[in-house]
Amino acid sequence: MLQVDITIVGAGVVGLAAACACSGRGRQVVLLEKEPGPGRETSSRNSEVIHAGIYYPGGSLKAGLCVEGARMLYDFCDEHRIPFKRIGKVVVASSTHEERAVEDLWRRGIENGVEGLAMLTRSELRKREPHVSGVSALLSPNTGIIDSHRLIRRLESLALSLGCTILYSSRLTAIDRSPHGYSCRVDGPGPEQYAFLTSSLINSAGLEADTIAAMAGIDIDSAAYRIYPVKGEYFRVRGKKQALVNGLVYPSPEKNLTGLGIHVTKDLAGSLRLGPDARYVDTISYEVNPAHASAFLERARTLLPFLLEDDLLPDMAGIRPKLQPPGGGIRDFVIHHEADRGLPGLISLVGIESPGLTCALAIGDMVKRTLEEADLL
Ligand SMILES: Cc1cc2nc3c(=O)[nH]c(=O)nc-3n(C[C@H](O)[C@H](O)[C@H](O)COP(=O)(O)OP(=O)(O)OC[C@H]3O[C@@H](n4cnc5c(N)ncnc54)[C@H](O)[C@@H]3O)c2cc1C
Repeated sequence: MLQVDITIVGAGVVGLAAACACSGRGRQVVLLEKEPGPGRETSSRNSEVIHAGIYYPGGSLKAGLCVEGARMLYDFCDEHRIPFKRIGKVVVASSTHEERAVEDLWRRGIENGVEGLAMLTRSELRKREPHVSGVSALLSPNTGIIDSHRLIRRLESLALSLGCTILYSSRLTAIDRSPHGYSCRVDGPGPEQYAFLTSSLINSAGLEADTIAAMAGIDIDSAAYRIYPVKGEYFRVRGKKQALVNGLVYPSPEKNLTGLGIHVTKDLAGSLRLGPDARYVDTISYEVNPAHASAFLERARTLLPFLLEDDLLPDMAGIRPKLQPPGGGIRDFVIHHEADRGLPGLISLVGIESPGLTCALAIGDMVKRTLEEADLL
């Protein structure tokens, strides 16, 4: 049977970043992707924000990898000419009650090592965002926006140029432990089915990372790897009102961080989007329900009182691979070498929700270091 050194499952932004970090080092690296191209799931269905690292508990992987990942991503964008803008963001307290939550966020951001954070008074907020309503705000000047599609394409071409083999329309369907690593069965492309052996296996399968872990023999409930998909829809603001907001505008954060609250993002073309909301779902569908416009409006009008229902158009949706069950506490990313479960060479990347786009390069680096430490790279 054909044997390779490293197999990565999933050509989202995280799998691609891992492929770039591990390729070109004299090991044979294969990237398997069930879709016909890269980044067709969560990696191309998100807010495209380069987060600064404010929200996440100190010491968590999310906090550390976000601060490091944002720095790496800005450098990567400069070096590879990926369009981005350090547009800045305000987290707005819309009442005195919310001010305390926003100030807590400020302190947490500083503890996490985020640079440049400042509290704005009402008049300072007005100067920056004259049409946004609020009593004060946290300013994060280091938050930016990126063209995620160009990032994905650049990572793909970089991985290929470093010698990585990328197999599209190729779904991993079974994993068997063997004395030499893992035997992987693959469906596709087309009616083709085959198996090959790999010494290491990186599970970067996004919404299906729990399925892949189960295939490898991990009990996903006792490991707490079960994924609870949480859908987020977006609505676009049409017409001239798009120009009434200058940067990214977020509300004071939701309890338990199911999402960051319906926020206002601008893309690089200057169009304005509201979203995402957060709903647990049983099936993967990217349809946007136009009937949700009124709920969006109700929440967004606290910050943007000039909006009317007619201004909103259904836009797109993405689905978060959450480890946090409904009503459960917030969870960190899982980035784990499964040697302690008797599965050496298997690295699980599970629950890579937001800020996974920002963290991707830092996660790729961490995967590389983990393989090096285990003498697998
Ligand atoms: C609504 C929303 C907004 C977000 N906003 C932001 C943001 O502004 N900033 C930020 O930093 N992060 C954001 N995120 C998070 C970010 O998008 C994700 O963390 C990141 O894209 C995850 O990348 P990934 O490669 O792990 O997953 P994915 O992009 O989902 O890639 C996984 C890949 O695995 C493939 N796959 C699955 N099973 C198999 C199999 N059996 N065989 C072969 N291939 C398989 C899938 O087809 C897929 O391409 C947001 C997420 C959502 C949902």
